[in-house]
Amino acid sequence: KLNKLEDIVSLCKRRGFIFQSSEIYGGLASCYDYGPLGSELKRNVRNAWWKSTVQMRDDVVGLDSSILMHPMVWKSSGHADKFADLITECRKCHTRTRIDHLLNQEGKKAEDIGQDPRIISDKVCPNCGAVGEFTEPMAFKLMFETQMGANADDNMAVYLRPETAQGIFANFRNVLDSTRVKVPFGIAQIGKSFRNEVTTKAFIFRTREFEQAELEFFCEPGTDEQWYEFWKEKRFNWYVEYGINKDNLRMRDHDSDELAHYAKACIDVEYRFPFGSGDWQELEGVANRTDYDLRRHQQGMRSMNNFIESGRDLAKVELKDEQPDYHKGPLSFFDEQKKQRYIPYVIEPSAGVDRSTLAFLVDAYDEEEVKGETRNLLRFHPDIAPIKAAVFPLVKKEGMPEIAHNIVDSLRAHWNVFYDQKGAIGRRYRRQDEAGTPFCITVDGQVKEDGTVTVRDRDTMAQERVHQDKLSAYLFEKMSC
Ligand code: ATP
Repeated sequence: KLNKLEDIVSLCKRRGFIFQSSEIYGGLASCYDYGPLGSELKRNVRNAWWKSTVQMRDDVVGLDSSILMHPMVWKSSGHADKFADLITECRKCHTRTRIDHLLNQEGKKAEDIGQDPRIISDKVCPNCGAVGEFTEPMAFKLMFETQMGANADDNMAVYLRPETAQGIFANFRNVLDSTRVKVPFGIAQIGKSFRNEVTTKAFIFRTREFEQAELEFFCEPGTDEQWYEFWKEKRFNWYVEYGINKDNLRMRDHDSDELAHYAKACIDVEYRFPFGSGDWQELEGVANRTDYDLRRHQQGMRSMNNFIESGRDLAKVELKDEQPDYHKGPLSFFDEQKKQRYIPYVIEPSAGVDRSTLAFLVDAYDEEEVKGETRNLLRFHPDIAPIKAAVFPLVKKEGMPEIAHNIVDSLRAHWNVFYDQKGAIGRRYRRQDEAGTPFCITVDGQVKEDGTVTVRDRDTMAQERVHQDKLSAYLFEKMSC
């Protein structure tokens, strides 16, 4: 299986899945646009996550919080002070590189690596190849900062969110008060996040603007380990359910030195991508974050006067100490049955929509020899496929285009279908194979005799005759696999 990244990138561009952002101006580094097929694909990935995480469950509700949030959110979450990569600059070519990447220890935190310049003294610049020409390690902040407010007196620095999770914590109280949820329950959200990444990676794997699908699942302390196990399995199986080969997936426990100080446990769901040093790369993290976030936000809420007094300068704000009865604070939960108040623990599955879209593309990509020719195809699960069925009249006469249009109209209410009457039928099939369309419906002369058309299966290329009135039922049955 030749699932090389270059093949995927070229297919994506050729067929309108993914383009470089601002390409007509030479492109903007590590930003990408999803074209006609890509936007459908990514929406299906998003919908599949939402269906499994929210729609199919009684205990999870959705949220869509704003990208810009009060700066204090980032003080409480720790991002304002700690969300930085340790980097170095090559004295020869001035390219900056993450130290963990130079050391080939992706994911290691600055405090684990240490800032001793000797650790990189013999390393090679990945850009120009110079050896040992690095500056001392320095912290590079990853949050994008911007200004908000038109008047000088209400103007302040705000940040593009680097994760969607904090919007959930900030709305925990609102959701508790406005719905009938009770712990254990979760709040899910999908949305854009932004990080001024130092080293950007292959294609849409690591970009500066990306989409996350995050769930914060609130549970009673003491039940957190069970829920952690539950969500680990559930999230791993989601990738398998939507077609990713199990052999290309694994769960990797974080080493104790990799674990964030507040997390009790964390695993990464990893996919074997066709690039990078070790190939296995993170798709998603599942963490037991304990009651850290809600407690920190309680501290932040009490520290608002410090924010005002500091002149709205996060660097100068000190969070007030936690009160001894913090567990009764505004972000606590009252268990009616047990007559107990506590701050819930949180299990957080945090996935990247773009990264999983890339994994679905890579895993679905296939090449095979058919009658001496190479057939490129994307073996997408039907729910993920951008187009579910393509409808072709065999020829542009004898009423076939009209019948084909009628079929399109009848199927369109349920699925994204595509009409194509141009070119040889074999070429039309190949184009749909490359788009990952699971079914091609061809209207030929026989429709006049018995009302049937052919349905071709993308993977086996086998064709069946189906009555045109039974197409919806046929596709419904085939797609609910
Ligand atoms: P990495 O170590 O790869 O930088 P991370 O551990 O910082 O990732 P998290 O903060 O755990 O990532 O974010 C959760 C998920 O969001 C990741 O598993 C990934 O799928 C996605 N993600 C994070 N950063 C990016 C990015 N720059 N581009 C695309 N997706 C991203």
